[in-house]
Amino acid sequence: MVKENTIHMKGGVITERDPEFCTIRTRIPAGVITSDMLRGIAGIAEKYQAPYVHITTRQTLELPHIHHGYLDEISRDLSETGTPVGSERDEIVNITSCPGIERCVFANIDSLSLANEIDRRLFGKEMPVKIRIAISACPNGCTSPMLNEIGIIGRIQPIRTPGVCTGCGTCVEYCKEGAISIKKGISVLDPLKCVQCGTCVRSCPFELIKSSGEHYLIVVGGRRGRHPRIGKELIIVNSHEAVIDVVEKIIQWVYRRAWSGRLLSEQLDDLQFGKFKEDIGDQIPVSSIIQDGM
Ligand code: SF4
Ligand code: SF4
Ligand code: SF4
Repeated sequence: MVKENTIHMKGGVITERDPEFCTIRTRIPAGVITSDMLRGIAGIAEKYQAPYVHITTRQTLELPHIHHGYLDEISRDLSETGTPVGSERDEIVNITSCPGIERCVFANIDSLSLANEIDRRLFGKEMPVKIRIAISACPNGCTSPMLNEIGIIGRIQPIRTPGVCTGCGTCVEYCKEGAISIKKGISVLDPLKCVQCGTCVRSCPFELIKSSGEHYLIVVGGRRGRHPRIGKELIIVNSHEAVIDVVEKIIQWVYRRAWSGRLLSEQLDDLQFGKFKEDIGDQIPVSSIIQDGM
């Protein structure tokens, strides 16, 4: 018999095909884990005879084949290692993030600290629908932010400053979008082709292409699964704090207005995305919003 207790009711406890056993999913925001935490998980895996540890697509670790009778004990042990039981059901689940500015040469934002802050404020909150949040520090989108209920993408808009361009073409070579060309011996940016990756800003040896400052594109309503859907662009904001503000407003909206049983993407279709976008935009200070193409 499966024991009914509060730990079992958490989404991070996943009953297996043999209902006497479950898989324990841990909470590891952005998939960042210290060596001490790893040792702790290894010790717990051995203690409870998990045959292996599974790395998930949402950057967490799972301990498979745990008997339900050990749930309270294992939950306590996991909390002590700093990797408590995670979530999976209609909740805000593990926040995923790429390495961001700390390590990746393409990064425009500090995605790891943003992921930690969102996790600290919102992780595990019960919702009418599951909410997955993914952060990528540049438009390369390594964490697939467009395929999550909420996706955050760090961008930089390039600005061609006045100055003596040699027409060397270095920026043209670096731009993978074909958004820069040399016309009459000088570089010209095409904003319609530019995805605001910021690569050209770092490429010009004469620093003629400047950054307008980092900003954050927030997309909503994406999903993976049997009917994948690309998220829609909701808003662009100019600071880490503004992102958290927008994410909290989206969560509040979903918490109050969405209903269980249908994915957020479908509900946004029913309620007209334009109206949703307007509702959220109206709640964010104008000084925090970047108009696209500005
Ligand atoms: S999304 Fe961009 S910044 Fe993040 S890891 Fe991928 S290439 Fe690097
Ligand atoms: S920001 Fe990226 S896409 Fe835009 S012009 Fe520069 S290199 Fe090309
Ligand atoms: S890299 Fe700089 S100098 Fe060379 S073409 Fe581009 S903007 Fe001009």
